[in-house]
Amino acid sequence: TDIGSQKDRVVSEEEWLQKWEMGNIGFHKEQGHPLLQKYLDVLLNGRSGLRIFFPLCGKAVEMKWLADMGHSVVGVEISEQALKDFFAEHSLPYCEEPIPEISGAKKLQSTSGNISLYCCSIYDLSSSILGKFDGVWDRGALVAVNPRDRQRYVSLMMTLMEKNSSYLLVTVSYDPNKHKGPPFYVPESEIKSLFG
Ligand code: SAH
Repeated sequence: TDIGSQKDRVVSEEEWLQKWEMGNIGFHKEQGHPLLQKYLDVLLNGRSGLRIFFPLCGKAVEMKWLADMGHSVVGVEISEQALKDFFAEHSLPYCEEPIPEISGAKKLQSTSGNISLYCCSIYDLSSSILGKFDGVWDRGALVAVNPRDRQRYVSLMMTLMEKNSSYLLVTVSYDPNKHKGPPFYVPESEIKSLFG
């Protein structure tokens, strides 16, 4: 398949913020993702009290699901509106604090302490700020990353993973000649070469 038409395409942070502002967020799923339900056992692998990472989290309701199951959830999202909507829509009180290592960035944390959402670009973060994770839910994340940034994104994700962690990745299969993305088309062969 010819994916050349997508490889140079860039969706800027400004464009993402605009989507949130305009309510142009067709990617958000009110009901949560059936594939997380289906593969929950693979993510958890019999373990409890995990630290689970949601890259490019939006206001994904699955964060609430996993927190309610007793896990600790960390998300990253550039849109502050998305994060505030998340807490408001689940009636969760939260507090805000600056992230000293990143100028202008802040962390929104549920008062109960089990959901921490970083408002900044994922590329500003590192394991020294976030720590490491037992599980990752990557839906609308790798496929939203600009194709030229994929290697950087995956390398960062690798540094955030604990030894026995599980990584659930959702991609979208479609004809990249007919749609410019996002979500971008990430062929299976590329996933293999990115993650090794
Ligand atoms: N995973 C979510 C949202 C998918 S849409 C879900 O399943 O609903 C992709 C999200 O990534 C958007 O909300 C966008 O604002 C955010 N985003 C885009 N670039 C980002 C970056 N560099 N760092 C953090 N968030 C980013």
